Amino acid sequence: MGEDAMNDIDTAYIEQKFVEYCKVNTRSDPNNNCVPTTKGQVELLMIIKNELQELGLTNISYSAKDSYLVGLLPSNTATLTTAVGFVAHVDTADYNAENVKPQIYRNYDGKKIYLDPQKDRVLDPAEFPSLKKHIGETLITASGSTLLGADDKAGIAGLLGMLKYFKNHPNAEHGDIWVAFGPDEEIGQGAKRFDISRFPVEFAYTLDNGDPGDIAYETFNAASATLQFKGTIVHPGEAYGLMVNATTMASEFIESLPKDQVPEKSKDFEGFMMVLSNSGDVGYAKVELIIRDFDTDSFLAKKQMLIDLVDAFNKKYGENRVEISMHDQYKSPGDLIKQYPYVVNLVLHAYEKMGLVPKIIPFRGGTDGDFISEKGIPTPNLFNGGANFHGPYEYVSVESMSLLSKTLITIVQLHLKMCDHRDNTPLKRKY
Ligand SMILES: [Zn+2]
Repeated sequence: MGEDAMNDIDTAYIEQKFVEYCKVNTRSDPNNNCVPTTKGQVELLMIIKNELQELGLTNISYSAKDSYLVGLLPSNTATLTTAVGFVAHVDTADYNAENVKPQIYRNYDGKKIYLDPQKDRVLDPAEFPSLKKHIGETLITASGSTLLGADDKAGIAGLLGMLKYFKNHPNAEHGDIWVAFGPDEEIGQGAKRFDISRFPVEFAYTLDNGDPGDIAYETFNAASATLQFKGTIVHPGEAYGLMVNATTMASEFIESLPKDQVPEKSKDFEGFMMVLSNSGDVGYAKVELIIRDFDTDSFLAKKQMLIDLVDAFNKKYGENRVEISMHDQYKSPGDLIKQYPYVVNLVLHAYEKMGLVPKIIPFRGGTDGDFISEKGIPTPNLFNGGANFHGPYEYVSVESMSLLSKTLITIVQLHLKMCDHRDNTPLKRKY
């Protein structure tokens, strides 16, 4: 893509769509088992569905089963290529999203922004230094009492910005591009249900959080563990040599866990174990904890350590005093994605081409990409350009969202070029 074409991103369109979508309340509900968990999400998906039609996509479909909206921008090239996918989520975090009123600051001057009329909530560059990166840009914030919803409506707007570019430039060649919009990411439910037979791509990217230049393809491997301690109740006056106190056992167990592998002492690619709760009495005690690790081997080692500890306690206090049950929660897509370095290299190459500094970052939490990768489509996360997610200080600039559109166009065009000299060997499957 030439420099001129780069300037052809329709920033007014991106801004308009973003503001429109932010106004739809799509807060997901962790206490609801419906698909999706809130009606507002379907409302927005239907609005986007119409937009995909306007943009000339085909194979547009919404399934009530998984609540995913998908569509295809068909290849317009004779070059044999494979399909690439992009994914964004429509729901917003568990924070007030009623009556979101996006505020637009053109040519942002780098000063404090008073979000609400009472001036209680202030976006202060002294507190949020990343604001200074956006001086001169068009900044969008919420109005004090709600979140904005840049997570992930900035991803949606950036994605539509790419589709608009290809509609406006029919001569710009590209292969098949599939897009998917899903629900309930914030509560970790949406992508679990995604029927990927509806999304026939070779690889995909989520456009969630992060800064321009970021790529994340390793997240935690995650498991939860429940430990049950059975005591023996005896009158304290006659307890000598007889009483086994479940609560004391539970405390001793917690004390035996590694002290440095806790969230408050872990960062970047370091894992941890965290005690979520500890309750009980003399007869019975229960400890719940979670295990997180980027590296599969050390994840398994952490789980094994718990099992070994349980064995040691049962040797010390008698058989079946302690029982453990563990459940895997989600899996890092890292192992899968590392088998297909092309998926990451393509993005690094695109970033370099655009003059962005590529940064491979750890994603310290679950994402849609974890579930989609687990289903077999390698899916790293890129960025959406917003900041201060999940609360009233959230903001994004129109320029950041446009940069996302440009990134996606660059990826698509680079992929087409690479297909020319990849001897058409699909990364993983024929499409
Ligand atoms: Zn998100």
